[in-house]
Amino acid sequence: MDFELNETQALVRRTAREFAEQRIMPLAAELDEHSRFPSEILAGLAELGMMGVNLPTDLGGAEAGVVSYSAAMQEVARGCASTAVTMAVTNMVGEVINAFGSDAQRERQIPKLTSGEYAAGAFSLSEPEAGSDPAGMQTQATKIDGGWSLSGQKQWVTSGSEAGVMVVWARTDSADDRQGHRGISCFLVEQGADGLEVGKKEDKLGLRASETVPLTFNDVEVEDDALLGELGSGFRIAMMALDGGRIGIASQALGIASAALEEAIAYSKERRQFKRPIADFQAIQWMIADSQTELEAARLLTYRAAAMKEAGAKSFSKEAASAKVFASEAAWRICDRALQIHGGYGYVRDFAVERHLRDVRVTRIYEGTSEIQRTVIARSVLRG
Ligand SMILES: Cc1cc2nc3c(=O)[nH]c(=O)nc-3n(C[C@H](O)[C@H](O)[C@H](O)COP(=O)(O)OP(=O)(O)OC[C@H]3O[C@@H](n4cnc5c(N)ncnc54)[C@H](O)[C@@H]3O)c2cc1C
Repeated sequence: MDFELNETQALVRRTAREFAEQRIMPLAAELDEHSRFPSEILAGLAELGMMGVNLPTDLGGAEAGVVSYSAAMQEVARGCASTAVTMAVTNMVGEVINAFGSDAQRERQIPKLTSGEYAAGAFSLSEPEAGSDPAGMQTQATKIDGGWSLSGQKQWVTSGSEAGVMVVWARTDSADDRQGHRGISCFLVEQGADGLEVGKKEDKLGLRASETVPLTFNDVEVEDDALLGELGSGFRIAMMALDGGRIGIASQALGIASAALEEAIAYSKERRQFKRPIADFQAIQWMIADSQTELEAARLLTYRAAAMKEAGAKSFSKEAASAKVFASEAAWRICDRALQIHGGYGYVRDFAVERHLRDVRVTRIYEGTSEIQRTVIARSVLRG
């Protein structure tokens, strides 16, 4: 058992860390304050191969594997959580197209994602009435001559108006013969498609520089070759994509928590009360000790899931869910303790811990809530 990153993984991590420190961190507070989409940062990340860390080099990816991807995600999230989620979804979209797409789909879309020609990719599964239960989706794809016509409402689409390509899930069964999750298929829809309407940007608690929008599909017509994977296999594609995506979100949570803990440690050494640094107080030391321990435990779970995916494990659903639920909940506690260590100063925008606490909260919600992760884990354990 080897707990060290190999040479490639360490290089990817170092590259992401340097970029985050030089180009992302200095802008993170401003991006948050003005809810500004980080276009120039994303372009810089694409130049470094970060929009396709686990994608083949012949499609413009870095082909550096899943552990490298996790390490890079942690470093980018340490700099700016909004940038990190945009990068995470773009990597996920590239991987879905690579895994399930035809050669033509891969060659048409992936180089644009990895090169930064597309600012981002988007993943459109959730609907207003179907979040934890995506099989309850209503968006309908109807067969027409030479293609499909998509109608319905999607919700919570990260980078929905910025993305060059979106993976969109829709029902392909008929209203009078519903097939449950077997009646769902997956389509590639390019930005600017006729009939695609982008709704009002969500006014979020955190991740304010990432874009989250609802989308309305008003008879959006796509050609036959927009179908991704086999007809009726969309639910399986979504579940497989989310297994990998959860490693990304666990890594994002870890990155935010690392930043918060570092700031708490620095502050505890500077801030003096009762004529000594607050770091001298055992109450503060124990908070730091708990945070450090939880951060390391979460990182090990996350790298284990990443290593399993990288090794081609048949299933790593339980491990990805364990990493995601533990990392996101530990990260919340770590950010909360970091704010507590800052006292009143942690509650105002002058200190970054305030932003970290807002940003980290959603990691317990998206790509499956904590309750859904526990359901996935329990189902696997009980099945034996
Ligand atoms: C900022 C942001 C970005 C997002 N980006 C995307 C994106 O890019 N693409 C996309 O498709 N979606 C995206 N989402 C959607 C996200 O994945 C959903 O919000 C999430 O899956 C939960 O769905 P919901 O909000 O409808 O909550 P619901 O499913 O309505 O859940 C409400 C509550 O009920 C609980 N619950 C539901 N079912 C069960 C159950 N069986 N057992 C126990 N508890 C249960 C949930 O855990 C939760 O606490 C995003 C969400 C946010 C907030």
